Amino acid sequence: MIKKMAKAVVAGMGELVFPDICLGCGKYIKNSTDNPLSACFCPTCLGPALPVFDHPFCPACGRCFESGPDHLCGACLETPMVMDSVRAAFMYKDVIQKALGLFKYQSKLSLARPFERHLFQAFATHFEMNAFDLILPIPLHASKAKSRGFNQAYFLVRNFSRLYKDACGRMPQWRIDIVSLARVRATVSQTGLDYKARKKNLTQAFACPKPERIKGKNILLVDDVLTTGATCNAAAHTLMDAGAVGVSALVLARA
Ligand SMILES: [Zn+2]
Ligand SMILES: [Zn+2]
Repeated sequence: MIKKMAKAVVAGMGELVFPDICLGCGKYIKNSTDNPLSACFCPTCLGPALPVFDHPFCPACGRCFESGPDHLCGACLETPMVMDSVRAAFMYKDVIQKALGLFKYQSKLSLARPFERHLFQAFATHFEMNAFDLILPIPLHASKAKSRGFNQAYFLVRNFSRLYKDACGRMPQWRIDIVSLARVRATVSQTGLDYKARKKNLTQAFACPKPERIKGKNILLVDDVLTTGATCNAAAHTLMDAGAVGVSALVLARA
């Protein structure tokens, strides 16, 4: 029921967001469909189908497979993550990869609305929404937040409570929390680093300034992209050390 209503809320957004000009090619968009992203991209740039995150995947890290049943991937069998599970709205490719680049590095903030609706739909599809106490967008270090001007992860969830209320007719039991997890060390760019180097890069990158807000809580981390999972896993490590009972992650795109 909730999933169906979440879908209705998401579908209803198509007509409301209407920048008119395709962010991909600059052409005028004649009419959007019930896909929220069709308000930002023309049908040609959207492609025949969005790369929706779907089975089969690794139930732990969310790595997608070409075929077969869901199964733990080799990496998770070898080194289990701190997180319980990772789920996504999309695979990181095609128009989604392009759109995320425009959003993050060129501040195309009109994408925030369709993105958060797709992300909310993935939240309703892949998780028991009421299992969580806190939703924490992965924070940026202050220096990066200053240069970029916004935290893309926060922009993906800031209206989640309202979307939940629209879909379920009541307020959620979880809260969006942007103060209980902090990025305390500026990390060098993760691009081009392998898993080991990323992990080292992220050591002690996060802190919980108020551990009493984390203790005993089931937490959902939110980020834009998950590649190796090192960033979310490092955050989960810090949260578990602060007394969290469980940490999962929801991302817009899984690489
Ligand atoms: Zn286009
Ligand atoms: Zn895995």
